[in-house]
Amino acid sequence: MVEIIYRIYEVADHENPPEKGCVFWGVSNNIELTMDCKICESREHFKELIKDEYGDNISFRNSKKLNTGDLYCIIIAEHCYNTERYFNRIEYTCACCGSKVVGYIDKCEILKDWEIKNDLCNQLDKYENLRFCSYNCKSHFIKRERQKCLADGLVDESFITREDFKRDDIAGYIYKISKKSTGEFYIGQTIYLPIFRWGQHLKTDRFDMKGILDYQFEVIEIVPITANILEREKYYIQKYYKENPEKSLNIACTKGVIETKEQWQQLNLLGSETNG
Ligand SMILES: [Zn+2]
Repeated sequence: MVEIIYRIYEVADHENPPEKGCVFWGVSNNIELTMDCKICESREHFKELIKDEYGDNISFRNSKKLNTGDLYCIIIAEHCYNTERYFNRIEYTCACCGSKVVGYIDKCEILKDWEIKNDLCNQLDKYENLRFCSYNCKSHFIKRERQKCLADGLVDESFITREDFKRDDIAGYIYKISKKSTGEFYIGQTIYLPIFRWGQHLKTDRFDMKGILDYQFEVIEIVPITANILEREKYYIQKYYKENPEKSLNIACTKGVIETKEQWQQLNLLGSETNG
């Protein structure tokens, strides 16, 4: 036995939609005729019961193929454990565009706590319980309000992402990580602020987070947008390698290090493996 909660819709005339500006969740302004619950043997049995009631032509999903006036049935849930969320219609105004929304609580687009924390400087009191007509409206609202929060100088509590560490006006950075106890060093390049790259290095086996006092992290060049960052990286790898070949942990670009112009050109042709 299953209990099936369902709604029956009639396809609206989309050329002349009813009540402009009024949004019905997920049903594209079609007309809801009824919502009810049936107890039946199975889903197949349920469909038979619905066809007996509404005719064989009723469809069990909404689709573009349906014409104005056609009926379709949507199964909302099986088992009526928590019927309130399916049966309680709510009416509210979209906090972004001002549309009047008629819908069901289970489909309502609200600001979640983590969104308020991450994007809106954790101003729960201000943004709690706002409702939106659509995901688009919510995203738009978040973007707009975030600008206001930042302009007001509130503390940004958003997650750090890679993009936060990128600048459009520079090609990137050349960095050096040294192990103080042994004098070994590693040169790398990154288009993101190196602190991000260092974090990535520290997550690998090669670096021991517990021994962090033994490491020194430095930026050795900010590479302008006009320069080739891979060439700059190669330049530094070879420069430091020549000074201290046995301490270099860079494998790429250090084989047969360039003493002559010919060798330099040859190396350029080989291209560089990069760990950037
Ligand atoms: Zn809206």
